[in-house]
Amino acid sequence: MGDLDVPNCSACLNPMQPVVGGWWCASCGEALRAPESPDSLPDFQIPEGIFGYVPPRLPTLIGKVVMLAALLETKIEGLTSSVDNATQDVHGGRGFAVNSTAIKKRLSSYEANPAEQAFSAEVRVLLAEIEDVLEDRNFIVHGVWPKSSDFAWWGWKPRRKSKTSSRLDWIEGRTLTPEEFIETCETLVSLLDRTQRAIEMAGSMSRRP
Ligand SMILES: [Zn+2]
Repeated sequence: MGDLDVPNCSACLNPMQPVVGGWWCASCGEALRAPESPDSLPDFQIPEGIFGYVPPRLPTLIGKVVMLAALLETKIEGLTSSVDNATQDVHGGRGFAVNSTAIKKRLSSYEANPAEQAFSAEVRVLLAEIEDVLEDRNFIVHGVWPKSSDFAWWGWKPRRKSKTSSRLDWIEGRTLTPEEFIETCETLVSLLDRTQRAIEMAGSMSRRP
């Protein structure tokens, strides 16, 4: 297929790029399905024998946890920026632990009146809950899932060295049900919402030096 066959985007008029199944606009994200494209697009199947049985819901739910937690981490960068008057590039890529410490340090300057005290207390609770859910996320992402059925999945991962107290507890194993994965996703969604509100709240308060 030559360049002449490349269609322009119907939304932004830029040339689209060919992808499997059709064309895609890298400028605005518009997609155009090729008329002859089959209904099902290619999908990667993990070869059998690597994990054993992988129920289709497991990788999907792991992916949702990954996506939501990644967005939550960028929101935390945004919150750090809004409590210390910096642009987000300053705190981007620093990781939750560093940003959480930076936020808590700044919160002490937000205690001039009852509204600020309430804000400070609320953000401290929020950060503690985020720390918990990110621990779960780490288990889910770094966990190896060798034993699965359709309704319970067993995973294990080595503990971080900072969390181990003896040579015997170097590894952590947990059985998770689909319901527990969904609960983690719901927790992430609600924390995203609360973090967004905290960013707006910080923005509405008087600026600190
Ligand atoms: Zn476009």
